Amino acid sequence: MKKMTCRQMGGPCDAVIEAATPEEMMSKGGQHITDMLAQGDTTHQEAKQMMDEAQQDPAKMEAWRNQFMQTYNSLPEEGESEAMPAEETPAV
Ligand SMILES: [Zn+2]
Repeated sequence: MKKMTCRQMGGPCDAVIEAATPEEMMSKGGQHITDMLAQGDTTHQEAKQMMDEAQQDPAKMEAWRNQFMQTYNSLPEEGESEAMPAEETPAV
């Protein structure tokens, strides 16, 4: 599991997106942009436009994907087993 912010994917906000694979990350990132716009947000319009352009232009998609993969690969893997238990033992 890795975490990436909307901003790290070329978006305008710091919403955190979690995914297990780069494909899932891209798909969730695109979904996030679509969701934000559906909620009446306007700051994601530019990102949406960039996404649409990339889908029609393989060279742009390739450039974006390379950048994305570089960022994705540099992120630490966040295993769920590493999470600290929230349980606390009160001292007597
Ligand atoms: Zn965003």
